[in-house]
Amino acid sequence: MRRVPDPAPHPDAGRAAGPGGHAASASVFTAGGNTAARIRSRRGPKIAPDPARPIAHFREEERRLDGSRAVVLHVLLAGAECPFTCIYCDLWRRTLDGPTPAGAIPRQLAVALRETGPLPATCGVKLYNASNFFDPRAVPPGDDASIAALLQPFDRVTVECHPRLVGRRCLAFADRIPGRLEVAMGLETADAATLARLNKGMTLEDFDRAAARLTRAGIALRAFVLLPAPFVPAARAVESALDAVRYAVDRGAGHVTLIPSRDGNGAMERLREQGQWTPPVWNLIEEATDRCAPISNAVVTVDLWDTDRFLTCRHCRTARIARLRRFNDTGSPGPPVRCSACPSSS
Ligand code: SF4
Repeated sequence: MRRVPDPAPHPDAGRAAGPGGHAASASVFTAGGNTAARIRSRRGPKIAPDPARPIAHFREEERRLDGSRAVVLHVLLAGAECPFTCIYCDLWRRTLDGPTPAGAIPRQLAVALRETGPLPATCGVKLYNASNFFDPRAVPPGDDASIAALLQPFDRVTVECHPRLVGRRCLAFADRIPGRLEVAMGLETADAATLARLNKGMTLEDFDRAAARLTRAGIALRAFVLLPAPFVPAARAVESALDAVRYAVDRGAGHVTLIPSRDGNGAMERLREQGQWTPPVWNLIEEATDRCAPISNAVVTVDLWDTDRFLTCRHCRTARIARLRRFNDTGSPGPPVRCSACPSSS
């Protein structure tokens, strides 16, 4: 799970589980029946994207493990909805109902490349399609050659994919591009029982197998971790996220992004009502980043998309956001921000 610019309030933000922690059998999502259907029944309408052009493209600088910083072109692709139905996911909101039309993805990428203009000598690209790059319904395999041809300018190419869809096509795609392929996979949590409740259709063993396959092939691994995952008791929110970061790094992830969990998909609102998820507060995000700062064998960042919604104090808001930007840029957040006007100041 990660960000997608959206005209409506967008997700990729977190929560801390409520007082009950594991309120399992009371949940409408775990009381039996078809869990995916129950999650889907709470959805609002989609905002149908135009498959003729990317949803968005923009540049950001990103820290690499060697300490350097590189420009990364982000291309948010319009395509088919993911076949999984994770309970926390809202990425379906800007997807097509049917399969991605053949030729649409290379056309969208070409539009982004034309519109973004000249690229620096060292530049990465992220192709995020709100689904799985190696799902044939999302990215028709017949388009792989044309996509690869457009990726010549990039020394690193990041795509996202569910661990169960990392297979031979992924390895073949890595061989087609001149840059290094990086596959971003959602680990979300390292707690097997919690993971099962996320309806992600994945076990920790699935993640491990995909991670091993990628690293054996020389493909880089990036992981997403929810801060916190639903069903994690509030008191364990930071510790649980740290466990997941360490788990991913131990399996070869060179970059882990903490995703503050968010509502907006209907299901998360229901979990919050049930006390099974509480949106994360800023102090929790800061505590998690502070605890991740000593990790030196991977880049750890926090997704700051729309995070200013967590901050209401006009006195310290800018400084606190800047502190987390510094964490992302350097790996070190620096001293905490003190604010006499804000009771939640760190
Ligand atoms: S696998 Fe990713 S895109 Fe698919 S439902 Fe889960 S979080 Fe959303």
